[in-house]
Amino acid sequence: MIVRGAEFEISAVRPQQWPDDGLPEFAFLGRSNVGKSTLLNRLLNRKALARVSAQPGKTRQINFFRINDAFRFVDLPGYGYAAVSKREREQFAKMIDRYLLEREPLVRILQLVDIRHLPSKDDVAIHAGLLELDVPVTVVATKLDKVGKSQIPKQVRDIRDALQTRVEIYPISAEKRLGLDELWTLLESDLDR
Ligand code: GDP
Repeated sequence: MIVRGAEFEISAVRPQQWPDDGLPEFAFLGRSNVGKSTLLNRLLNRKALARVSAQPGKTRQINFFRINDAFRFVDLPGYGYAAVSKREREQFAKMIDRYLLEREPLVRILQLVDIRHLPSKDDVAIHAGLLELDVPVTVVATKLDKVGKSQIPKQVRDIRDALQTRVEIYPISAEKRLGLDELWTLLESDLDR
């Protein structure tokens, strides 16, 4: 993918603020600190379009990015950040649910997990919920550069087992730019469909 234009459009707190021109959307979600902003920036070749936040869990809105005037990346709030109140957590969860359930232009959901660790309880529960939806799901295993080459197949297998899933798992490193072309190929195939 040649990214000619990538712009931040809106941080939406209400569905009424969601863009309504129907461009296809890829939604990214994962625990705070999993590397979501870094991945978005790297995919788009922008330094700090999606802010890499020093304070995990700071992003509490749904952020829409418009790419090549042809599709969008949608950055969903990071989940599992302990320092926010239960009520706040429930509010994010409700907003994310609503987006995932209702959003017509959504073509794929990318759930990020850290390749070094077994998925958390939240990761597992959310994955199970995503599989119930009518939208294709892909797991992206981040921070690939943090594990030795020989460990990769085992880590991926363990993640697959823990999530009890058959969806494709894409190991990537945003930092070292590994696996990004493969991920773009997947997204391009969605757009060609
Ligand atoms: P977010 O909360 O999911 O948006 O996570 P960030 O993108 O802010 O990243 C959280 C931390 O992980 C930051 O310190 C990043 O520098 C680091 N990080 C992100 N991607 C990678 C990666 O591919 N490799 C390594 N080693 N660190 C990464």
